Amino acid sequence: MTAPFEFHETAAEFSGADRYARQRLIPGWRQDRIAQARILVAGAGALGNEAIKNLALLGIGHICIVDFDRVEPSNLARCVLFRAGDVGQAKAQAAARAAMEINPDVEASALEGDVGYDLGAGELRGYDLVLGCLDSIGARWMLNRQCRRAGVAWLNAGISASVGQVSLHAPLAGACYECTMTRSQWQRMNERRSCLLGGQRLAQTQPQAASVLPAAWTAALLVQQAVAWLHRDALGSAGGLHPGEMLSIDVKQNAMQVLPLPQNPRCAAHAADAEWSAPEILLESTSAALCVENILRAVPDAVAWLPPQAIVTGLECAQCGTESILLPLRHLHRERLACPNCPTLRLPRLAQPVQRGSALAQEKLHRLGVPHQAILDVQTEQGIRRVVLTVPRPGCLRPARTAQPARAGAE
Ligand SMILES: [Zn+2]
Ligand SMILES: [Zn+2]
Repeated sequence: MTAPFEFHETAAEFSGADRYARQRLIPGWRQDRIAQARILVAGAGALGNEAIKNLALLGIGHICIVDFDRVEPSNLARCVLFRAGDVGQAKAQAAARAAMEINPDVEASALEGDVGYDLGAGELRGYDLVLGCLDSIGARWMLNRQCRRAGVAWLNAGISASVGQVSLHAPLAGACYECTMTRSQWQRMNERRSCLLGGQRLAQTQPQAASVLPAAWTAALLVQQAVAWLHRDALGSAGGLHPGEMLSIDVKQNAMQVLPLPQNPRCAAHAADAEWSAPEILLESTSAALCVENILRAVPDAVAWLPPQAIVTGLECAQCGTESILLPLRHLHRERLACPNCPTLRLPRLAQPVQRGSALAQEKLHRLGVPHQAILDVQTEQGIRRVVLTVPRPGCLRPARTAQPARAGAE
């Protein structure tokens, strides 16, 4: 009897014509699914690099990489996709380029921005799965909310020097990431949020005392779970986590286990899902073309738009009066608070929600921080209605799974 690998070792059979010959030998493996899969990777740090490398080698058809950071020299010892020449470049771009170099079959795109604010939840709908390779609680919290809003499953991965964890969260079943957040995690997230006003980034964290090794073994488990998810109906649940389960590996103890995560009955993310029962309203337009009033007019009985982030409309000095400005709160840097005419720190004036007929309602949505393919919340007499902008951002492929007919302004 010939061993399968021996057979493929022969020069004639293993001529390089089929890059995926070895993985096709895995029982139940469907390379066609891998090739058609669209996976979004949030975070291109050490963990994201290892995950993207694995996805590219497997031949995942489309990988979108989101990261707001730039490559630094200290990344080079932990990030397989970056070279010295990439220092100073956007991590998302450098990682996308490297993924396509590793495997020309792969189509990789990059978004240099914040996964919570710069990526519309509607865009997430174009992906089969989202991989969270993030290093802050705030960014995970935000990605969890975004994925639930989009109705897309995501895998959350985290590492320390000796522990790696991967959990699966799906919209309709099991605990979500927010369900699992502890009191101290909430506290750390809120402390960081209060620093946001100082112009600091939400994802700025304590540097991790970890080498590439935990990133490598955790990313292998993460991508193994992604493959299991893509094969979930073909292979049953073999090897794959169920939604609301966490795989944890501890290399100091040489221990690996699967833990069920308890669902929190008071989870606000779960409660928020219940508010949106009415059908969505699709608008084939962009946040650059539409103003708030256009959105409010498209929704019957609309009262106000509920922006996902506070909007600063002015800076108030008790002595000198108010300077009118317009920008999302997260873009307000501490230096702007200093009054140019006296030594006072000015107070930001915030607008939220935006009422019909107000001056702010005349503003274009993108000036208020709304990205392409956003899913917007509109308060009506009957509850919250969702409006989905369906035009993709430039440079992004129109997602295959959002090919629903757009009904401009229609009910
Ligand atoms: Zn929850
Ligand atoms: Zn002043």
